[in-house]
Amino acid sequence: MTVSPLVVLDCDSTTIQDEVIELIAEAAGSREAVAEVTERAMRGELDFAESLRERVATLAGTPESVFAETYARVRLTPGITELIAEVHRRGGKVGVVSGGFHEVLDPLAKDLGLDFWRANRLEVVDGVLTGRTVGPIIHAAAKAEALQEWANASEIALSATVAIGDGANDLDMMGVAAIGVSFNGKPVVVERADEAITDDLARAIPFLDRLG
Ligand SMILES: [Mg+2]
Repeated sequence: MTVSPLVVLDCDSTTIQDEVIELIAEAAGSREAVAEVTERAMRGELDFAESLRERVATLAGTPESVFAETYARVRLTPGITELIAEVHRRGGKVGVVSGGFHEVLDPLAKDLGLDFWRANRLEVVDGVLTGRTVGPIIHAAAKAEALQEWANASEIALSATVAIGDGANDLDMMGVAAIGVSFNGKPVVVERADEAITDDLARAIPFLDRLG
């Protein structure tokens, strides 16, 4: 019998080929400042919440038209539409959870036909980014919680879930899912994943047959 699966993907460098904060920073003229913070975070000098706060702070004063401009530049990852279509064919659900931003994920979710999505939200006042986020920060634990919530809401057992991501932030949700898949993953992700694929998300489709 075919099981109806829940597949949850990370957004940046997984569902899409880009890092949304970098695209926004390019448009905002703060690309170098953002890259510097990213490097410090990679050296372990900042945790995720601090690095998000510092990177978002560089966006203060940018007009909100930056979101449409950014979304127009987003490149889908090969295989994403095939993977979503196959999950839906099996009666399943697809969610995307992102340490990036709702303002870009919302139109993406609509275009891809996602069932669930969650991300950070950038504060806008009088049409301009304030350089702050509003609401809860989406980090590793929040990604794992999203997967659990969406499984409950869909009445899908965790044994029928797959989590796909590329970064250390994705390891918690990959641990909760029945099958954790590294997609073009960092070495630590490849090492801890149940499966590792590259380049084409349709390569995750055969894993759906293993779910119980
Ligand atoms: Mg990512």
